[in-house]
Amino acid sequence: MPTGFSHSLLGVAAGKIFGSERFKKTKIRFWILSFICPSLPDLDVIGYYLGIPYAHVMGHRGITHSLFFALIMAILITIIFFRSEKFSSKNNLLIATYFTLIIASHGLLDGFTNGGHGIAYFAPFINDRYFFSFNPLQVAVLNPKKFFTEQGFDVLKNEFMWLWLPTIIILIINAIVHRTNKKFNEIKNRNGK
Ligand SMILES: [Zn+2]
Repeated sequence: MPTGFSHSLLGVAAGKIFGSERFKKTKIRFWILSFICPSLPDLDVIGYYLGIPYAHVMGHRGITHSLFFALIMAILITIIFFRSEKFSSKNNLLIATYFTLIIASHGLLDGFTNGGHGIAYFAPFINDRYFFSFNPLQVAVLNPKKFFTEQGFDVLKNEFMWLWLPTIIILIINAIVHRTNKKFNEIKNRNGK
């Protein structure tokens, strides 16, 4: 996995692009969930302590990294945390799609790493593990003690190059497009009066 922080960074960036303005009343929970949800799949590390083998569907990078898990979690999150509207409302369907994507982004990123086991994208239906054929992301150190070693620092450098930098560039482009649109609309409204 990339470090949990990088997964969450992508969630927050996605939230920024998706736009929290639509959910004024639920803004705080939207942001907290955008930060937490992309890291949820790694809760499966608990399996290590329970003696579940890595290759088992309940093991690390198993079912919690699947598209099915992302969808089920997103539906539950929408029902529990955004219940002021019906699940079938346009806003809540959008929210469910958004959370499915940011939770699924975790497994997709893991598929670009250069170590560990493959990802069970299609569990529980097909439990085979997959990787993408392009693996620029260095696999993160799972042992917290190794985090502040040279190896840990290499992982951070690698994630900065491949994840943070592109994310920052996308956010800047998004901000420019947003601002240009706003100005354009202001001019249009002024001329319309
Ligand atoms: Zn993972």
